[in-house]
Amino acid sequence: IDLDRLGIHDSVDAVFPPAELADFLADLPFDVGVVGDDDIESCDAIVTLEHRDAFLDLDWVHSIQAGVDRFPFDEFDERGVVLTNSTGIHDRTIGETVAGYLLAFARRLHDHVADQGDRRWERPAWNEAFTLPGTTACVVGTGTLGGGVADVLGALGVRITGVRRSAEPVPGFEEIYATDDLHEAIADADFVIVTVPLTEDTYHLFGAEEFATMREDAYFVNVARGSVVDEPALIDALEDDALAGAALDVFETEPLPEDSPLWGMDEVIVTPHCAAYTRDYFRDVGDIVRENVDRFDSGDELRNRVV
Ligand code: NAD
Repeated sequence: IDLDRLGIHDSVDAVFPPAELADFLADLPFDVGVVGDDDIESCDAIVTLEHRDAFLDLDWVHSIQAGVDRFPFDEFDERGVVLTNSTGIHDRTIGETVAGYLLAFARRLHDHVADQGDRRWERPAWNEAFTLPGTTACVVGTGTLGGGVADVLGALGVRITGVRRSAEPVPGFEEIYATDDLHEAIADADFVIVTVPLTEDTYHLFGAEEFATMREDAYFVNVARGSVVDEPALIDALEDDALAGAALDVFETEPLPEDSPLWGMDEVIVTPHCAAYTRDYFRDVGDIVRENVDRFDSGDELRNRVV
């Protein structure tokens, strides 16, 4: 690929100011600038959050997200457009966010934040609060997110088990199950944490059967993609007290509609798809882009190539 102009699409503004990344990459030996939908065709390559059909005329598209389920792989393939993603950078951010959810549930912090809004002084019941050591978290998906979650929760004394497509061991996970044995893996866990990409295989991986398999005092966490979970089935399980609660960063419809019952549930923490946010996000993405520019030059295989 011969690069004359790399665009930073203004859709990345949902995560960081596009100009920050353009400045960070300004020393590259070609033009780097922020572009809107009107000047996509002035570029050979683009860094983006969202997909646009006009990208199919470019040579290279880099997604600032790890999940690339919004891009039409077949069309990229047919048109010879290279697609790369930003997996590999979200281990610590997601790990700390998930630790925050678990600490909130264990130490009842979400209750107190809610009470504070009403100026209400109310202590938990004697048997509500607990500590994390001795609990087990089953992490479904042992890639970057899963590894980061295992790392941070492991340091807090949580026993970590994992689910991946094969049952091969992974460092940081005490026990690994194959996805075929998902029910066995989640049946005894205090926390089930979903960190898989959304694919044909993982669409609605969690539904009524899985929530029935989990313990009634277990918490469910989804930081992957909304459609990995059958959301109405999750709502039913929460309403029926078949689960203790849930922390959700991603939803089948985003933004989460105002009339979703999830907003009003005491034992549900809703975050607006921001579990990986950090003020260093543009630098982490910029490092991948820079590395791939070098690899284009040297003819090496690209980092994080998807198509
Ligand atoms: P990754 O490629 O490093 O890891 C994904 C892991 O899931 C891999 O180990 C893969 O083998 C495994 N996997 C795939 N299909 C599976 C299946 N059927 N059963 C079990 N395991 C399976 O990607 P990552 O960086 O860890 O990101 C994972 C996903 O998390 C992304 O695709 C994205 O959708 C989501 N994500 C969400 C946020 C957020 O803001 N909440 C941030 C980053 C990523």
